[in-house]
Amino acid sequence: MTRTLVDIRQDFPILTREIHGHRLVYLDSAATSQKPESVIQAIDHYYRHSNANVLRSVHTLAEEATTLYEDARRKVARFIGAKTSQEVIFTRGTTESLNVVARGWGDKFVQPGDEIVVSPMEHHSNLIPWQQLAQRRQAVLRFVELNGDGTIALDEVRRVINAKTKIVALSRISNVLGTINPIAEISALAHQQGAVMVVDGAQSVPHEPTDVKRLGADFLAFSGHKMLGPTGIGVLWGRRELLDAMDPVLFGGEMIAYVDRETATWAELPAKLEGGTPNIAGAIGLGAAVDYLTAIGMDVVAAHGQALGELAYQRLKAVGGVTVYGPPAPRGALVAFNLEGIHPHDVAQVFDSNGVAIRAGHHCAQPLLAWLGVGSTARASFYVYNTEADIDTLVEVIGETQRYFR
Ligand code: PLP
Repeated sequence: MTRTLVDIRQDFPILTREIHGHRLVYLDSAATSQKPESVIQAIDHYYRHSNANVLRSVHTLAEEATTLYEDARRKVARFIGAKTSQEVIFTRGTTESLNVVARGWGDKFVQPGDEIVVSPMEHHSNLIPWQQLAQRRQAVLRFVELNGDGTIALDEVRRVINAKTKIVALSRISNVLGTINPIAEISALAHQQGAVMVVDGAQSVPHEPTDVKRLGADFLAFSGHKMLGPTGIGVLWGRRELLDAMDPVLFGGEMIAYVDRETATWAELPAKLEGGTPNIAGAIGLGAAVDYLTAIGMDVVAAHGQALGELAYQRLKAVGGVTVYGPPAPRGALVAFNLEGIHPHDVAQVFDSNGVAIRAGHHCAQPLLAWLGVGSTARASFYVYNTEADIDTLVEVIGETQRYFR
C-alpha cells in the first residue's frame, strides 16, 4: 500500500524539532536534504557492527564492510540505469565529480582551440572546473544563452555547438531557476558533433527518475546529501570507455595494479578513480537513501516535487511586491524569489524566526544572478517531506515579512 506523506514525515526525526517556538518547516532541501531514520541507522549499524577498511583485508569485518560498500555501488548503478556498477565512482559529491572529469578526461583529451559549452545558469561547480580546464588547455569557453524565462532553446544550442565542441556541460535542473533542461535533445546535438555530454545532476537525480542512457549523458555527477543521504559522498558515473580512457586524479592507495620504484599502473574501474580509503559509511548511507527513494518510487517523488514547485511559483506570483524567477512550468522542486525593497538575508531572518528554513544568497550561481540583474535571492526548496501546508506557511510568512518591513 502506498504510504501517505504524513507517514513519510515521521521517518525524519529532525522534523519534530521546534525552532524559535514554531514547528520546523524545512524549505532548504536544494542546499541539503534531511535524513530518514533508515539512512541514519544504516550508518550507525555499519560503525557498530561492520566497521573495517574495504577491499584490503580478508577478515570477516573487512569482508562485511566491502560487501556493504559494493552493495551500495550496485544500488546506485540500478538507480541511474548504469550498465555496470563499475561505472559508478564514489566521490565526495557533485563538485568533486565534475572536477575529476575536467582533470582526468579534460586535461587528457581537450586540445588548444577546442570549445567547452556551458550555460549562464550553471552552479559554480559546473562552471569553474571548465573555466580552469579552458585556461590550462587554451580551449574556449562558450555559453548557450538563456531565453527570458530562464529556459534553454534548442536553436540556441544548435547555434553554439559545432565541430570544435569537445564538452557540453549543463545541469539537468537549475538550483535557482528550477528550469528542467532538455538534456536528451541537447546531448543528441552534442553527439552529432562528437562532443561529450557532462550532466550536473545535483538537483535532478534526487528529484526524478534517472536513466543515464535516456538522458544521453556521457558523464553524470550528483551528491548523496541532496537525496536523503549523508554529506561527503557523491557519485561520478561515466560511460565505461570514457572512464577507462581517462587518467586518475588521485594517486595513492588502492588505485594501482602494480607499483615499482619509478612507475605505476592503474587498477581496473572503479578502483582506478577511487584512490585512498573511501567514505565507506557515506556510501552505505547513500545506498540506504536509494532504497528509501526507490520504495516511494521516483515517479511519485518527481510528481510531488514538481507539483510543489509549480504551486509555489503560482502562489508567490500572485502576491504583490514579489518577483519570482524561472519558468512557471515545468519546474523543479524549488522557487527563488525576492521581496521588493527587502534584502533576501532579512527575509531569511524573518523566516527563521517563524521556524521556516529557507536559503538566501547567490546560490553559488553568480553569473546567473548577474543575468537576473540581482545580487541575491531568497529560495524555498521542497522534497518528499514537504506538503502544500508548507507552501501556505511560505506565503503567510512572506506576508508577515512584508508587513514587518513596511
Ligand atoms: N550543481 C548544482 C546544480 C547544485 O545545486 C549544487 C549544490 O548546491 C552543486 C552542483 C554542488 O554540489 P555539492 O556541493 O554537493 O558538491
